[in-house]
Amino acid sequence: MSSTKRKSNIEPFKLNHLVDETCDGCGSETVAIEKNGRHCNGEWFETRRFSCGARIKFVPNYSRVEVDTPCPNTEKNKLMMIKRRTALESLQQYIEKLDVDKDCKQRLVDAFKYFNIGR
Ligand SMILES: [Zn+2]
Repeated sequence: MSSTKRKSNIEPFKLNHLVDETCDGCGSETVAIEKNGRHCNGEWFETRRFSCGARIKFVPNYSRVEVDTPCPNTEKNKLMMIKRRTALESLQQYIEKLDVDKDCKQRLVDAFKYFNIGR
């Protein structure tokens, strides 16, 4: 039986920027990596997710590493997430008090509904 070799335009599956295989915060192991979408500067979008739930990504547009989901196991991040949730709730309460029509309030609330605070 002969095999048909296909030439792939995808580079070998190895992350170029997110090379640390354990979480910075708690040392959890990597559970998933992704490399998809190549920026016109030649760099790939990369993501790495750890067993603790933390997720980091490399954004080629800015050539920088960003924390998408902070490690939930550090005291610093626990406090940060409490503050972020509190800020979002305060913002929603503030919107409710604004002197604007109901439709406008709903649009403002909707704009923040899916705002990523890091979960
Ligand atoms: Zn972690």
